[in-house]
Amino acid sequence: MYDVVVVGAGPAGSMAAKTAAENGLKVLLVEKRQEIGTPVRCAEGISRENVERFFEVDKKWIAAEVTGAKIYAPDKTEVVMSEEMAGNEVGYVLERKIFDRFIAREAAKAGAEVYVKTACTDFERRNGFVRVKLRRMGEEWDVEARILIGADGVESKIGRKAGIIKTLKMNDIESCVQYLMTGLDIDQSYTYFYLGREVAPGGYAWIFPKGNSSANVGIGVLPKMAEKTAREYLDAFIEREGIEGKVVEVVAGAVPVYGEIETAVSDNIMLVGDAAFHADPITGGGIANALAGGYYAGKVAAEAVKKGDFSAGFLRKYDELWKDDFGKKLKRNKKLQLKFLEMDDATINKLAASISGKNLSEMSIRAIVTELIKAHPRLLWDLKSIFI
Ligand SMILES: Cc1cc2nc3c(=O)[nH]c(=O)nc-3n(C[C@H](O)[C@H](O)[C@H](O)COP(=O)(O)OP(=O)(O)OC[C@H]3O[C@@H](n4cnc5c(N)ncnc54)[C@H](O)[C@@H]3O)c2cc1C
Repeated sequence: MYDVVVVGAGPAGSMAAKTAAENGLKVLLVEKRQEIGTPVRCAEGISRENVERFFEVDKKWIAAEVTGAKIYAPDKTEVVMSEEMAGNEVGYVLERKIFDRFIAREAAKAGAEVYVKTACTDFERRNGFVRVKLRRMGEEWDVEARILIGADGVESKIGRKAGIIKTLKMNDIESCVQYLMTGLDIDQSYTYFYLGREVAPGGYAWIFPKGNSSANVGIGVLPKMAEKTAREYLDAFIEREGIEGKVVEVVAGAVPVYGEIETAVSDNIMLVGDAAFHADPITGGGIANALAGGYYAGKVAAEAVKKGDFSAGFLRKYDELWKDDFGKKLKRNKKLQLKFLEMDDATINKLAASISGKNLSEMSIRAIVTELIKAHPRLLWDLKSIFI
């Protein structure tokens, strides 16, 4: 009998497995792909503080360090946030192939068993524990666990089967496509964000530098608002911006932009990372919350084992921890996302023009929105209570 079986070795699952194992639990981490960390479905940006909170940074998994961000309105009005003014919304562009493997290795080092090419195909609760069905290369077998942690990403089957989450609606999911491009002529010390309905309806396009004149060039769109595929929007964006370079990798994926779910637990089960819709509704960033959620789930699993209580009632301690940490921000940014979805390109141009050239005191969404509210109190009045 395992104390914890974790399904999915992304940042959330590996972090949960690492933390649970460090707290003395018997842990199994399973990953259906043959290699942890590939294929990468991510633009790989994360703030400095969100990595440094958990790990001593290793240069091996940092592709680029950025010192600022440039945001472009549909008419190309530029809003710049630079290091001197900045906290750090984006500080590193990771090499996730290496980063994800590093965390899984840390979990193994702490004592977790790690099986790759092993899928969880089903599970059922029985007399206070969970029987988890696994499959590896045609071979099928069951293991038992006191706690099952679903870290199986945005399409989490565990979350749906456990009745914790429902399939996402078209307004709560960003459809993304990204090219890794090389031979680019860009300033590698910035991340770039491009807004507007025409460029990326319901989302944005991005360029995140990866060193050596390469970068992740991608786009996220809200399928409900889009008239073309995400890939068609990305190709149009690249042409519009005159970006010249070679595409050496293509990835497509989805990001949950749901906001805060009521609970991420049920009896014997916790969801972490994208499986719990923990990505940010505005930025689509999910690595930071995946790490934090995984950490809290691992901690609460250890407390549950100590108490011998695996009920939803006890596991709600995990809900309290993630809600206290980043739940409020998910809720707030969902409100902001819905507000932005109402805006046409002319309004976004007007907003950007009003803060372009301003010395933003902090590199964060809060700082930008606070400035926007000051400049346009009538337009953004309903956001006042949550941002100022
Ligand atoms: C195009 C794109 C760009 C993004 N850019 C950024 C960014 O710049 N910054 C940022 O912070 N976030 C970004 N995100 C979001 C970020 O990638 C996710 O939030 C993050 O990966 C979530 O981590 P996770 O561990 O929850 O899930 P994942 O990383 O999705 O890991 C889930 C793992 O579970 C495995 N799995 C699934 N089902 C099973 C099963 N049944 N059995 C065994 N294993 C299973 C999968 O193979 C996978 O390895 C982006 C997402 C996309 C799609």
